[in-house]
Amino acid sequence: MYVDCGTLFTGSEVIEDGRIAVEDGRVVDAGPRDAVEAPGEHVDLSGEVVTPGFVDAHLHLKGARSMDPMDWVADDRAESAARAVADADRLLSAGFTTVRDVGSNVAIGVRNAIDAGEVDGPRVFSSGLSISQTGGHGDLHMLPHEWVEGGAGISELADGADECRKVARKRAREGADVLKIMTTGGVLSEKDSPRQAQFTDAEVAAMVEEAHRVGMPVASHAQGAPGIKRALENGVDTIEHGFHLDDECLDLFLETDATFVPTLSIMHRIVTQGDDHGVPEHGLRKAREASEAHFESVERAHDAGVPIATGTDFIGPDLVPHGENALELELLVEEAGFSVEEAVASATTVAGRTVPDDSVGGLEAGNYADFLVLGGDPREDLNALRAVEEVYRDGERIR
Ligand SMILES: [Zn+2]
Repeated sequence: MYVDCGTLFTGSEVIEDGRIAVEDGRVVDAGPRDAVEAPGEHVDLSGEVVTPGFVDAHLHLKGARSMDPMDWVADDRAESAARAVADADRLLSAGFTTVRDVGSNVAIGVRNAIDAGEVDGPRVFSSGLSISQTGGHGDLHMLPHEWVEGGAGISELADGADECRKVARKRAREGADVLKIMTTGGVLSEKDSPRQAQFTDAEVAAMVEEAHRVGMPVASHAQGAPGIKRALENGVDTIEHGFHLDDECLDLFLETDATFVPTLSIMHRIVTQGDDHGVPEHGLRKAREASEAHFESVERAHDAGVPIATGTDFIGPDLVPHGENALELELLVEEAGFSVEEAVASATTVAGRTVPDDSVGGLEAGNYADFLVLGGDPREDLNALRAVEEVYRDGERIR
């Protein structure tokens, strides 16, 4: 089939009067209409703005409906899974055809049900439970240790290189696609600070070695510079949040070709609306303290040429609901100096780098034919990013 478009964002460029040629659900070619062959059935979107399907490279498909991690512990798992299925449906309607879940106790099961065609949703790549040190960002500091060490919230605790290696192997055994570790403290954890480094070099190296051996990329929650460097020096593939990037961090990004996933959206929502939505006091305080540095980090990384991928860190409750994930593209444009074309590239070609499947990304030959029809040109009105009118996956219209 071939799809004639009005304006075509391929994920690396914008083409007027574009065409996508599709065979067996994959892109064969995309470019100007007169330069691309026209095989089979004709789909006429010649008056429309078409982009690749969006990728959210950092979210939690865990069916949460509260911002208080204490509630996540008590959530019924079956109910959480059912809510995560509803969230997956919302993501698809919002044009997110691929998502990377980086911490959830239900997402691997939801992924399997989507892959089996039982329920509708985006392509899901999941880490399963993330891995934190005791007293680290994934620990629930206010509860008895023995209640949480096996993974009561979104993390399993591990200490020492051997235990870290074992927990990484458990994730592989469960069918995780990526490994998620925590090399600094964070905002929603009670007793640590975003600037504190967590895990030792030996612990990080052990987890990265185990993950890479079985083809899992490693994502690290890392906010302060020492923990970002520890992650990058030990082979981590993506840095999540990155509030306090210094020059050394930027050099390491370029040296290692790692991807930065800043997650501006959750920080923006916590800072601007968090006190109306039950965010714990320590979370509000730490988010406000880091917010300015965070935007500066993104601008500096952008100027330095670090690959920056869209990730919202949305979880499900009203403050950070799945379905509003285009907020990350809007913030990159409005607050971090990206052009609209660059933001679309971040949400497609660049975000595709974060998942272990080379066919996810922009509309390049060989990639999945996942694309969207927007309600207008986002270069004229950013709201068009949220006005998704049609969604195609594998070349088939599904919304
Ligand atoms: Zn997260």
